[in-house]
Amino acid sequence: MSSSDDKNSPASPAHGIGTRLVETGRRPEWTGTPGHPGAVVSPAVWRASTHLYPDMAALRAHPANEDGKFYYGRRGAPTQWALAEALTELEPGAAGTVLYPSGVAAIAGALLTVLRPGDVLLMTDSAYEPSRTMGRGLLKDFGVETRWFDPQDPAAFEATICPRTRAVLLESPGSLTIEVHDIPALLAIAKARGLVSVIDNTWASPLGFTPLTHGADITVMSLTKHVGGHSDAMMGSASAGTEWYRKLRLRAQGLGNVVSPDDAALMLRGLRTLSLRLERETASALTLARWLDAQPEVARVLCPMLPGSPGHDLWVRDFTGGCGLFSFVLNGGTSAARDALIDALHLFGIGYSWGGFESLATPVDPAPIRTASRWPFAGMAEEDRFGVRLSIGLEDTADLIADLAGGLAAWKAHA
Ligand SMILES: *Cc1c(COP(=O)(O)O)cnc(C)c1O
Repeated sequence: MSSSDDKNSPASPAHGIGTRLVETGRRPEWTGTPGHPGAVVSPAVWRASTHLYPDMAALRAHPANEDGKFYYGRRGAPTQWALAEALTELEPGAAGTVLYPSGVAAIAGALLTVLRPGDVLLMTDSAYEPSRTMGRGLLKDFGVETRWFDPQDPAAFEATICPRTRAVLLESPGSLTIEVHDIPALLAIAKARGLVSVIDNTWASPLGFTPLTHGADITVMSLTKHVGGHSDAMMGSASAGTEWYRKLRLRAQGLGNVVSPDDAALMLRGLRTLSLRLERETASALTLARWLDAQPEVARVLCPMLPGSPGHDLWVRDFTGGCGLFSFVLNGGTSAARDALIDALHLFGIGYSWGGFESLATPVDPAPIRTASRWPFAGMAEEDRFGVRLSIGLEDTADLIADLAGGLAAWKAHA
């Protein structure tokens, strides 16, 4: 919610990101009472389905469907409004932010806002698997056709556009192969051909990449990852300029989307330390990526922050930050040897998701799910297909290196 003219944070875009993360979403009326505005630091958890009206006149005069007005629980209360306002303030070019119960719900919410039966959606071939599933399932059932394109080939992307193409879904870097797209090139084509562009910006967050300033129409995040940061809550967001924000909001209301105030408070808490965590995780990930790159067991490191890694030049050109999520590909071996590697890790949990304070490792096998391109780029040998994805948390880097060394030793013993 919120538009730029009613911002109430003492921080402005001229302040540094740490300052803005501290100040945002803390309107005095949300952190206090009329007699004591700003009495506490964080907005209270407003658990409410019913909002009460003082009398019938007030009920009859209830405001139009506006942000920041008490009405009924499905339109949120100050805890959710504060989080939405904070995310809007951190997203240059956004007039507002809609919150969804998960990242997948945010992607569905955005696509169902943009697409109509008969439309064609173009989706990057590196997209998150549930996004692909949405194309084959939910969207298909509603009469939308999804076609996939090779994100490394803007000319092929343009050739895929047909008169029925309505929108494009990008995700850069892709969350499995960590492929960076040439987003400005793809967006220039999308714009010239009248497509609506939606970007899943979960990897970078607005601290690392600001899609709307690059010409995207809607930016989506899984807040479950970096913003929450503590692996204890799920949520998603979609932010956009005035026109798309209004449509996103109405569609989300139509779908009955609402997020719990408890979870919104957890997200606000995570947001305060976002820049610190991302800085630390990025630095640690880069050290680990360099170390892995020097190991004979590793065929390829897929980490755009690492010089020489695929996408590094685009990352340097377009991004202002990284994160702790990257992958590496083993030098041959078997699926069982890779299992032995992951099983031998003590500090890396085995589990989906990423962006938490704790490190995680999961196998990555994107080859069979891709339909428009090979992974991660031309020239990859077929046997180099056993990948491991790491989400680097806040443990000491030296401890993580020692853990990975043990994992590689287990891999070698098995291979
Ligand atoms: C996890 C993830 C999502 C989905 O988020 P949930 O909150 O788990 O529903 C969407 N996009 C990317 C890139 C993700 O990694």
